[in-house]
Amino acid sequence: MRIVFATGNKDKMKEIRRILGDLDAEILSMKEAGVFEDVVEDGTTFSENAAIKASAIYKLLEEKDPEAAKETVVLADDSGLEVDFLGGEPGIYSARYLGKDTPYTEKNRIIIERLKDAEGEERSARFVCAIAACLPGGKMLGTLGKMEGRIGYEIAGENGFGYDPIFFLPEYGKTSAEISADEKNAISHRGKALREMEKLLREAFEDGNK
Ligand code: IMP
Repeated sequence: MRIVFATGNKDKMKEIRRILGDLDAEILSMKEAGVFEDVVEDGTTFSENAAIKASAIYKLLEEKDPEAAKETVVLADDSGLEVDFLGGEPGIYSARYLGKDTPYTEKNRIIIERLKDAEGEERSARFVCAIAACLPGGKMLGTLGKMEGRIGYEIAGENGFGYDPIFFLPEYGKTSAEISADEKNAISHRGKALREMEKLLREAFEDGNK
């Protein structure tokens, strides 16, 4: 069995290899599988976007090599930050929110500014990650992981990426940019969704649903 993960992000590939490493499968990035196309994610939810990406990449691989596709599972993810005070924004638009090329220091500063009238629980937010799998024959599997927190009052921390420096975890008294990668993986939206997907794939492989 071959698992192709539809991402060009090296950090995600590392995390995926670590979490899915015990499955009896070769794990490849999209590039390693010879796919370089971009997929238009035009769904309205994280789960829809992940499913659109997984099935589109599966179809491309099937066109290239129908025999290999019979032994291939394509995984894709979609993730983002939901801020309750902003009506769930940036949500599925997290990567392009306030401009695709705007630095995150600026995006994070603007989000804190927009929450200047929010106190305590009103600052609730969560990271969400959907993972979809497209199996040979077109069967789809999906998981959704969440990490709850609050938007901090200031930017803090150098670890992680994106919105991590403003994502305050009350139980740690720190942002997700101030905890280690291992600590974050253990509680993160992506870690949860990936571990759940690992279980579903294990069951699917055991059922002979290859
Ligand atoms: P994508 O799923 O790789 O397209 O990520 C969407 C966007 O959501 C990223 O560009 C970040 O802005 C944000 N995001 C998703 N997960 C995280 C995280 O763990 N930390 C910080 N930002 C994140």
